[in-house]
Amino acid sequence: MAEENVKVLIIGSGPAGYTAGIYASRANLNPVIFEGNQPGGQLTQTTEIENFPGYPEGIQGPEMMEQLRQQALRFGAEIRSKTIAEVDFSKRPFRCVDESGDVVYADTVIVSTGASAKYLGLSDEEKYRGLGVSACATCDGFFYRKKNVAVVGGGDTACEEALYLSTLAKKVYLIVRKDYLRASEVMQRRVREKENIEILFNCNTLGLFGEDGVEGAKLVEFKGTDKEQVFDIEIDGFFLAIGHKPNTDIFKGQLEMDAEGYIKTAAPTTRTNVEGVFAAGDCADPIYRQAVSAAGTGCRAALDAERFLMNN
Ligand code: NDP
Repeated sequence: MAEENVKVLIIGSGPAGYTAGIYASRANLNPVIFEGNQPGGQLTQTTEIENFPGYPEGIQGPEMMEQLRQQALRFGAEIRSKTIAEVDFSKRPFRCVDESGDVVYADTVIVSTGASAKYLGLSDEEKYRGLGVSACATCDGFFYRKKNVAVVGGGDTACEEALYLSTLAKKVYLIVRKDYLRASEVMQRRVREKENIEILFNCNTLGLFGEDGVEGAKLVEFKGTDKEQVFDIEIDGFFLAIGHKPNTDIFKGQLEMDAEGYIKTAAPTTRTNVEGVFAAGDCADPIYRQAVSAAGTGCRAALDAERFLMNN
């Protein structure tokens, strides 16, 4: 079991973590970033990013994250392909243990662990995981060329996933539980203009069926009303796009969180309830959840950590 001391430990590696790494390394704080099991975070699973300032023609998500990573490395951030499994924030330096049992004592910690895709909670999602159920169209869409697929959700992510899949699949059903889409106007328009996307409003998924993989989904329309009807659609792929859950389980009982598990910070700073621990990005953002806002809070967290170290 190895032990070491660091001034700034950054847990997580999306736009928030890498930006914190850029600022902390430029401040000579020798930050160590634990990338976790999805280096680069959620944006490595997306296609084109059109709304990050500075890329007038857009940029692919994985490419942008690699650039952020390189920028952090350039100024001396140390990046490890490991996960922090356990933390003790009860006293400083904070004791953090990685997945292999090695211990990092950190004077400050920046939590930027992001968020993960939510599932509906159906037992069939488990049963067919990897056999037709996915929460990432960019990762798995390729397997559904010329097939029928469904995307669940009515937000920007669902529309983005449906549009991406519509370029590969024969037909895309968009399963929306309300009678409207929550997505931005531009995304709604793009979805409506696609001939091979069919929006199923007022529909919920009851289950999935199939022999060796997904062959269809059982849906209910107008659930709980006198118009209620149950019907099947034939699909080979079932994609979830119903929002995200913050990756904050290991901080439960130590950092204050809201009911959904988002870490509470003292706005406009990134300070948590534990002095010396800061939170940035989606793990502390139930509202905006944008790459650019995550990068912005990553910058703030590094500056907050720097000030904290100066004063302590
Ligand atoms: P959202 O929370 O915006 O949307 C989630 C969708 O899933 C809603 O339509 C919601 O329905 C539905 N949903 C939630 N739970 C269930 C359930 N149990 N069963 C069925 N449907 C369910 O999440 P997104 O991931 O789409 O977006 C998150 C944020 O990221 C937003 O601010 C969005 O604008 C942004 N974003 C921006 C993009 C861009 O600008 N290019 C791309 C992707 C995301 P209901 O409406 O009924 O609650």
